[in-house]
Amino acid sequence: MSTKYVIIIPDGAADQPLPELNGKTPLEVAKTPAMDWIAQHGQIGTARTVPQGFESGSDVATMSLLGYDPAVYHTGRAPLEAAAQNILLRASDWVFRCNLVTTRDGLMIDHSVGGISDVEARELLSDLAKSVQYPGAQFYPGVSYRNLLVYRGSDDFALKTFPPHEIPNQPLIDHLPAGVGSDQLLSIMRQSVRVFDNHPINTARRAAGKNEATQVWLWGQGHPPAIPSFLEKFGVAKGAMITGVDLLRGIAALLGWQSIESPGMTSFHDTDYAAQGITTCDAIDKFDIVVSHVEAPDEASHQADWKTKIASIEAIDEHVVAPVLKKLQGLPDWRLMVLPDHPTNIATRKHGYEPTLWAMTGSAIQPSGLSYSELDAKRGRAIEHGHDLMKLFLNG
Ligand SMILES: [Zn+2]
Repeated sequence: MSTKYVIIIPDGAADQPLPELNGKTPLEVAKTPAMDWIAQHGQIGTARTVPQGFESGSDVATMSLLGYDPAVYHTGRAPLEAAAQNILLRASDWVFRCNLVTTRDGLMIDHSVGGISDVEARELLSDLAKSVQYPGAQFYPGVSYRNLLVYRGSDDFALKTFPPHEIPNQPLIDHLPAGVGSDQLLSIMRQSVRVFDNHPINTARRAAGKNEATQVWLWGQGHPPAIPSFLEKFGVAKGAMITGVDLLRGIAALLGWQSIESPGMTSFHDTDYAAQGITTCDAIDKFDIVVSHVEAPDEASHQADWKTKIASIEAIDEHVVAPVLKKLQGLPDWRLMVLPDHPTNIATRKHGYEPTLWAMTGSAIQPSGLSYSELDAKRGRAIEHGHDLMKLFLNG
């Protein structure tokens, strides 16, 4: 039987010491016996998963921790999400993220239109598509406010764009797409203002006291990335991704992995942790490498909700890490790693740029005697190029 590899990602779990927690981090305060066992009986350290010059986010950080250098393979966030939707693309095509957003008085009020429903989003987008006169442009509805625009034409783009979640309550005028091709994008955005104004969907939302979708916001653009499969790059044959997030499903598809749904899975603390533990254990029987990703700690951090962040870390430890560890211990040859893709800091409500922490245990890994915390990780091995971590995990 071949070696079984499992990676568990508590998204955004790493943080900094907080005054509310008497100078400790959420990971230090959370009771995590399984993660501590892994650190103590294995190795712990840090890894820079967001290289200099990149924005901190799960697109860049997940690519790094899976062993792919973002400087070589990252072409934008939108193309990764297009892969999740199985949209067929040529190398010359462009993909843009096409958020539905709420703007007011020239300011970005809400990057998600209060989590607008798929049905509402589809109708708005379809009416916009009918009125946009730009040959080669095609809209693809996604989940809620997260839609895509694919451009299959001869125009070229060299653009600076801004993620709308990074500019809350800031003036639109300072953050509009700028550079080669921006005229076309601005024209679509202006057209959406006209189409959405007094649209029946918005009239109903206004009556219900909800944020209106006032326009689309284009960003995250890129060509489809040319990524060698995980088998080609690392020689490990069958991979599976368990996640509730399109972005990670997209990365999995590009790596040649299968995405697996776990029942009751959401991006928030109401997710079914126990079901994810069972789904992950089952996947170990069928796949050589399994990645199990939990979004909840990241979302709690964006809300500055440290109580929920701690609760979600404890739930991941008890319901995902512990059962997976127990299962692997009954197998002859295995390795397990637990690492947040990047820090998400309660204090700023944003993703951090510090190196994240990792811990791995299993066959032929020496015990460190340390515990699973940001502080202990600094006493272990520091990996400057996050994408080197995978080699260590597989062979080191
Ligand atoms: Zn986040």
